[in-house]
Amino acid sequence: MAKKETTKESKPAAEQEIKEAIIKVLKKGKVESQDELYTKVKKFVKTLSIKPERLRLIASEIPEVNVIVETKKGMLKVPDICPSCHTELTKIKAKNLCGEVVVVGLKCEKCKYYGSIRDFAPFRYRFELKK
Ligand SMILES: [Zn+2]
Repeated sequence: MAKKETTKESKPAAEQEIKEAIIKVLKKGKVESQDELYTKVKKFVKTLSIKPERLRLIASEIPEVNVIVETKKGMLKVPDICPSCHTELTKIKAKNLCGEVVVVGLKCEKCKYYGSIRDFAPFRYRFELKK
């Protein structure tokens, strides 16, 4: 019976290490996007092997860090009609972190088309330390 070897030390960066790096980065100044945060954190954490999106989620778990979500509302182009079969789309709603009901996506009951609101709305994240 083969037993899995766990002696090899090649594990990815620990979450605590990543959190400390995020704080170090933000102490130097605000970060204007998810990708910028990723690039800067990577300088501190060489073994960073997570996606920028996961990094943002870790940042949002740090009590000292503010993650600001910006949507460019003027550019939001949400279709009413299914792009593939022209049936009226159903809005999928969910509560956001503030408890507000927001539209998160659109679906078509007829052809099962699904579009996430992120496909239509340009999102941008900003990161800063709380004062
Ligand atoms: Zn459809």
